[in-house]
Amino acid sequence: MTQFDYDLFVIGGGSGGVRAGRVAASLGKRVAVAEESRFGGTCVIRGCVPKKLMVYASQYSKLIEDAPGYGWTVGQTAFDWATLIANKDKEIARLEGIYRKGLETNGAEMIDSRATVTGPNTVRIEASAKEVSAETILIAVGGRPNHMAELAGHEHCIVSDDIFDLPELPGSIVIHGAGYIALEFACILSQLGSKVSVVLRGDEILRGFDTDVRRHVRAEMEKKGVRFITGALLAKVELDGAARKVVLNTGEVLEADQVLLATGRKPNTEALGLEAAGVELEWGGKVVVDEYSRSSVPSICAVGDVTDRVQLTPVAIHEAMCLIETLYKDNPTMPDHELVATAVFTQPEVGTVGMSEEAAAEMHRDLDVYMSAFRPMKYILPGRDEKMLMKIIVEAATNKVVGVHLVGPDSGEMAQLLGISLKMGATKEDFDRTMAVHPTAAEELVTLYSPSYRVRNGERIG
Ligand code: FAD
Ligand code: NDP
Repeated sequence: MTQFDYDLFVIGGGSGGVRAGRVAASLGKRVAVAEESRFGGTCVIRGCVPKKLMVYASQYSKLIEDAPGYGWTVGQTAFDWATLIANKDKEIARLEGIYRKGLETNGAEMIDSRATVTGPNTVRIEASAKEVSAETILIAVGGRPNHMAELAGHEHCIVSDDIFDLPELPGSIVIHGAGYIALEFACILSQLGSKVSVVLRGDEILRGFDTDVRRHVRAEMEKKGVRFITGALLAKVELDGAARKVVLNTGEVLEADQVLLATGRKPNTEALGLEAAGVELEWGGKVVVDEYSRSSVPSICAVGDVTDRVQLTPVAIHEAMCLIETLYKDNPTMPDHELVATAVFTQPEVGTVGMSEEAAAEMHRDLDVYMSAFRPMKYILPGRDEKMLMKIIVEAATNKVVGVHLVGPDSGEMAQLLGISLKMGATKEDFDRTMAVHPTAAEELVTLYSPSYRVRNGERIG
């Protein structure tokens, strides 16, 4: 028995915190997990899960549009926002229950309260004003949307958290930002019937993704009616009756029912007591950690979005699992952030693993690029004018596949499996000797025999 109340005190019951708490408790450790809102965290309550349910809801509009091409006569259709929200809420409550049960059955104590750090081994439970001690404190508090307090009229805007509880589908919306969240909601709302305008400061969406992917997604979203206003910022938002008047720094004025700010997220480290306990924070408030997720105070660790690594649910869970190996299994394990496959659930969907062409060209002198843009079979009979993009980037010297980028139906599902191949070090020959599955869209990935072009010393040739 140690002198501490707990072996592990986890602050934050989201993806990373619940996993660490549940597994540590299953190993017989004395664990508490404090959550100030709802167990499940961003992913389950106001992120990945409700978002994906809304993606599914929004896909029906195009399915209905395409149905006559396959011989269906579709009667009058209508979409009811309130039904979607109520059904989504029921599912989220069910999942929250599963998260709670997982902690309970493994013997972790759940504390429904905000918790703050008061020292290297002490935590204050705000609801009871009680201080407890722990051998290890895990900071897994995640982040929250940037409300852009510096923007005049930001109080008239919403953030991603609010979308899930809006009383009605906005007739029109201006979205500020062009990253994952902005674009996923632009597609959801547009396909459900809102008029969507996306305002971005740069000249292209999805910074960091392969240039062909960025252009392709934007072009397809434009075809579906989303307007992009590039090189612009919101200067001011004013109430205009029930609507919002949005003034851009270019002087253009937009009218919309809602304004969504989707310009990134901030770590939940404000007033958490970390600085006073000696924990080093980065500019912006993220916790500085070493390769084993330990902060500058050895008894305080951090995983997930509160650290400056990759902000994705599977990554937070992986970091938590590695920490358990390190702390409790005598097996120091560093999280592996190489080749993280990811999907952007835009419509069309993006699936990607490995380097963009631009990043690969910085790292490797010679690249062979295989690319194909084609109309998927499922769109032919309905006459849908939408193309799928597939791009494979190969390091010429070794023939190793260093990046695969997909835009189109089921790209996220494909990226998951491609992630395994790339993680195993697949070469282009491995792709070529893999038998195609016919008829699928994915077969294109194993039948691209000649490079579309080559990149030599950063120059595109042939
Ligand atoms: P979180 O899940 O944010 O959990 C932190 C928890 O800590 C929260 O529940 C919070 O209430 C609690 N908390 C904060 N401070 C305290 C305190 N002082 N005391 C007690 N509790 C506290 N990722 C994907 O992989 N795929 C997706 O499709 C995807 N979609 C997303 C969509 C949206 C709209 C958003 C916002 C995010 C999405 N993400 C997605 C990212 C993903 O949700 C996060 O990467 C993930 O949830 C991070 O997990 P975490 O454990 O670090 O933090
Ligand atoms: P992103 O980093 O993806 O995008 C932020 C956007 O806001 C960018 O377009 C950025 O522009 C813009 N921006 C940032 N600051 C400003 C500013 N001051 N003024 C104007 N524009 C600004 O963040 P998100 O909030 O969309 O998502 C956060 C993270 O959550 C993602 O990075 C991802 O890791 C995760 N997530 C994952 C999802 C998935 O897996 N499908 C879905 C949703 C979220 P610029 O490009 O010019 O920098």
